[in-house]
Amino acid sequence: MPSSAKPIDSTDDPHGFKRRGVLFVLSSPSGAGKSTIARKLLAAEPELSMSVSYTTRPPRPGEVDGVDYHFVDLETFREMASNHEFLEWAHVFDHRYGTPKAQVWHVLEQGRDILFDIDWQGAQQLHQLAGGDVVRVFILPPSMPILRDRLEKRATDSLAVINARMDRAANEVSHWDGYDYVLVNDDVEQCFECVKTILAAERLKRSRQTGIIGFIRKLLR
Ligand code: 5GP
Repeated sequence: MPSSAKPIDSTDDPHGFKRRGVLFVLSSPSGAGKSTIARKLLAAEPELSMSVSYTTRPPRPGEVDGVDYHFVDLETFREMASNHEFLEWAHVFDHRYGTPKAQVWHVLEQGRDILFDIDWQGAQQLHQLAGGDVVRVFILPPSMPILRDRLEKRATDSLAVINARMDRAANEVSHWDGYDYVLVNDDVEQCFECVKTILAAERLKRSRQTGIIGFIRKLLR
């Protein structure tokens, strides 16, 4: 980013922060490349951190508790939901998934961003809750046969689970119009660059430049 395009850094800002953070939602059918893009984005963007969801689904080989998900039993999940500990939660593939509330508002006000890998139901609930703070990006596969091929090559799920994921994919895609941006993941590098550009542009929105008033006063002095 050229230095002239940097978010305004106003030391006059009484709140002491440059901009309000972004709640950045990435959704896609399983296998469309969302996790790869999320990983690359987190590595490239130090001001972005990942929201780690709670789930009742058992861990897949290689998944780490507290990193990929917080893996909990149904009873714990229900208790958390009834204690209002989730920003949103949903049933996905016969399991429950929920976004914990902890830290989100604090991180936003510090001008840092949070990445959410959640489905369309979560994106919808988060948007109802936080409106203008939320940016929703949907990633489409180039075709359904390519999506199936990616799921098979991933080799983490049984055939029955892959079939269920393919059935669900069509349903996921039908919710494309609940998103602010829709991308086709033909090429993961290109798609990643587009996602990075969206984040950069959203950070520069006037409504997020909470420190700009002090800067403009100084400019016009
Ligand atoms: P997976 O089992 O493949 O990790 O995730 C299945 C689906 O659940 C994915 O589409 C993922 O985005 C979604 N998901 C993961 N965490 C959450 C969450 O906290 N809330 C909602 N609504 N969906 C989630």
